[in-house]
Amino acid sequence: MTALRIAIDGPSGSGKSTVARRVAQELGLGYLDTGAMYRAATWWALRENVNLDDPDAVLAATQSMPLEIALDPQAQRFVCGGEDITSAIRTSDLSKVVSKVAVNIPVRKEMLRRQRAIIESQDSADSYSAGRGIVAEGRDITTVVAPDAQVRVLLTASEEARLARRALEVRGSADATALAQTRDEVIRRDRDDSTVSEFMTAQDGVTTIDSSNLGIDDVVSAVLQLVAEARS
Ligand code: C5P
Repeated sequence: MTALRIAIDGPSGSGKSTVARRVAQELGLGYLDTGAMYRAATWWALRENVNLDDPDAVLAATQSMPLEIALDPQAQRFVCGGEDITSAIRTSDLSKVVSKVAVNIPVRKEMLRRQRAIIESQDSADSYSAGRGIVAEGRDITTVVAPDAQVRVLLTASEEARLARRALEVRGSADATALAQTRDEVIRRDRDDSTVSEFMTAQDGVTTIDSSNLGIDDVVSAVLQLVAEARS
């Protein structure tokens, strides 16, 4: 059987990481969180004392970034220069500045090269997925990184639902204070990210799933249904 590629895009708080991980687990596929790669590039640039407002220096840092990624959906780990940065790349401070790195077009080209190499590596029988394939999620996977994926999904949700989910995830509460603190990380970040990727409207051939009123299980089932249709 040919390797399966599943591409999932969506804004912050749409639930795409959780859904992508579950689908990968269910089907025995590798899992790639491309947002974490941009976060790793940001972490590495800061570690190298690079000014994030200097695009050439950020590009040079990204090109030299010694990043290793474990594709296990139950234990996706990011190791950079020998240091496990899986948790360090999730801080609010990092979330606030990651878009500066992500809007750098030459940096996106370098990421595209790395992401395609990882996706293609899963075609091989001696890879993590033993040739079964991969689920990759982010902002430009259905459109730029893997437009050839057999299953392409845009996962959306209302602004309210996305804010509440992120606030709960990051601050453990969705009360008024937590929502206000989370607003910049969700709304402003999506606005900045939208300047370089189209992830609010589905492109041709991409299925939109609105998760505002759906539980994770429902969204996972909907994606698995699309996989079954693509395979038949
Ligand atoms: O998905 P997550 O919130 O971890 O993504 C972090 C950041 O990485 C996004 O805010 C965006 O700037 C960038 N990103 C991107 N393209 C992707 C995935 C993420 O620009 N495919």
